[in-house]
Amino acid sequence: MPVTVKDPSARRAPSDRASAHDRCPGLLRPHEAQDGLLVRARPFGGRIGAAALRAVAGAARRGNGIVELTARANLQVRGLAAADLEPLAATFAATGLLRSATHDRVRNALADPLAGRRVGSLADARRIDALLDALDDALCADPRLATLPGRYLHVIDDGSGATATVDADVRLTARPDGRWEVGAGPLGTRVETDPVAAAVALARRFLAVRPPGAWRIAELPGACATPSAPAAGTAAPPLVGVLRQPDGRDAVGALAPLGRLAAETLDLLADEVGRGARARVSHRRTVALVDLEPGRAGGVLAALAASGLVVTPGTGWEGLTACAGRGACGSALADVRAAAAARAAERPADAPREHWSACPRRCGQTPEVRRAVTARPDGGWEVQA
Ligand code: SF4
Repeated sequence: MPVTVKDPSARRAPSDRASAHDRCPGLLRPHEAQDGLLVRARPFGGRIGAAALRAVAGAARRGNGIVELTARANLQVRGLAAADLEPLAATFAATGLLRSATHDRVRNALADPLAGRRVGSLADARRIDALLDALDDALCADPRLATLPGRYLHVIDDGSGATATVDADVRLTARPDGRWEVGAGPLGTRVETDPVAAAVALARRFLAVRPPGAWRIAELPGACATPSAPAAGTAAPPLVGVLRQPDGRDAVGALAPLGRLAAETLDLLADEVGRGARARVSHRRTVALVDLEPGRAGGVLAALAASGLVVTPGTGWEGLTACAGRGACGSALADVRAAAAARAAERPADAPREHWSACPRRCGQTPEVRRAVTARPDGGWEVQA
């Protein structure tokens, strides 16, 4: 297997893009894939309620049954027909997943699934929820912000550092003094009592100064690093298995292999939300149920395992991703998902982030990836590490 050594985390410069047009899909703007239309739902901060979970499951059943959990903790449904879109939009709107027709694609915020529920949390879960709600409201209330690129991302960190490796545009981090550090790379870092107002001001500033084709703050002229450049080697906290909360309740986390979820898994999560838990999805392709009453975690974890999820920490699936590949994309040069699944069996759990692509477009590859494997037209694989 020939090996080419490059930096797989290198960003594409705005000027290198084939088009300055931002093609990020949303619930009202589908992506046309080989297997039909794809729509993307953005659970704000990774939080998702029972009705929204059932709506995504229902959409998957209209499509080809596939639900993808993305590196931004978004949920994608594939294989839809044009006639599906209008009824689905109405359903998504009723559940809160389609919060705003104009701002759907700019509602990008993620947080640790256990934010406010870790030993090192400097803001409790109520403060995290309040911040996310206020940020969502503020983004949607400003008509100018409807033009933010679909890749512009807010990351909310409870001070535990659980999201330290996420490539944020604007990072809002809780501090011990009750204030928030708001970091935006070349646009500056400040300590604020009103982090939402600061984040909105930064979004407006980015729109005012960005050159054509710039989608991220790190792409502004003069930027030498991302606002929160992925910290290679930073240990990410556990998200799989039974996770004890400081308040005596439990959380359980399970990993979706290569980011695929079954509609039935979403129904299962919704059932648990109906029993009092809260559901979360994460950028590490995990689902979580938090605030489980003592004694419930074992049974819930077993049910998640039975639905096809990985519930044991320390497997080769962690940090391993692949593009949609054959059956979903006409550009696929190889059965990339089968190849990546074979790799999972031999890959050490602590191996660096790794992404497999079925063609050189490398869809889904994020800057955090340290080993990129790409199918070649001659049937081989190119490895960048
Ligand atoms: S990387 Fe290539 S094969 Fe994979 S989804 Fe993207 S375009 Fe399709």
